[in-house]
Amino acid sequence: MDAQIDRYCVFGNPIAHSKSPEIHAAFAAQTGQQLEYEKRLAPLGGFGAAVHAFIAEGGKGANVTVPFKLDAVQVAHALTIRARAAGAVNTLHFTSDGIVGDNTDGAGLVADIVNNAGVPITGKRVLMLGAGGAARGAVLPLLEQRPSQLVIANRTVATAEALQQQFAALGGDGVVSACGYDAVQGPFDIIINATSASLNADLPPIPPTVFAPGALAYDMMYGKEPTVFLRFAADHGAIPRDGLGMLAEQAAEAFALWRGVHPQTREVLQQLRAKL
Ligand code: NDP
Repeated sequence: MDAQIDRYCVFGNPIAHSKSPEIHAAFAAQTGQQLEYEKRLAPLGGFGAAVHAFIAEGGKGANVTVPFKLDAVQVAHALTIRARAAGAVNTLHFTSDGIVGDNTDGAGLVADIVNNAGVPITGKRVLMLGAGGAARGAVLPLLEQRPSQLVIANRTVATAEALQQQFAALGGDGVVSACGYDAVQGPFDIIINATSASLNADLPPIPPTVFAPGALAYDMMYGKEPTVFLRFAADHGAIPRDGLGMLAEQAAEAFALWRGVHPQTREVLQQLRAKL
């Protein structure tokens, strides 16, 4: 191994499935950057030790995936505003001033919607289904786009309400609201499924009237076949889009943080899609 080459990794458990090494290798080739990027299985309960071992080996930064995004908050010496808002860290940067924790998931979502799908969020009515980690990370980047409305609907209503209260001041009066699925009243221009329901082929119980004609229906999950949510949305006049672009864009944001150059995602997204 070349000691001069900057080293990065992704920590997770499990980690074998991760596409991050392939994505970052493609970004490095595209931007002419010399770096190595590997997968690292961190033991449950041993995340902090794994991070410090990697730093001792000369690591410059890391991505963090399930189940360590909350542990990564504790490991960081400083958090970016968006990481603090999300309450979770998916990107670590090892600097001379210490470990900086960032969260690029929400920015990745917004970049995929606005730049790749070509759908502006400004002035739009947005419905977000779910109030877990991915939803929490998405709220601030979505609000920064100044939607006219952001409704957070969740199975456990109290979790959605807590999220609404956290962001109410930032969203301006009346922009952010929270409810259960039975109280959702459409139509919306952008509907984002940030639940993990699709993992089990479940559909959050929303009425088809949530989809305005030509609305964007976004599922953070991705796969070879469209999810139940995306099929339901397409059957009711919405344009479906899965979360593969979000994956590529959150990686591009992390790469930019580490390397100071923002890669293009179009080709890597095509490569990832072809291999699903
Ligand atoms: P969490 O476990 O933190 O949150 C799960 C959320 O889903 C909660 O709001 C939960 O509701 C809800 N939920 C779970 N099952 C159901 C169901 N059957 N019906 C309705 N609601 C349900 O998960 P994450 O937020 O970390 O992940 C959510 C999704 O986002 C996953 O599919 C994940 O793969 C995807 N993701 C994609 C990324 C990408 O780059 N494309 C990045 C990060 C995540 P309740 O609070 O009531 O339990």
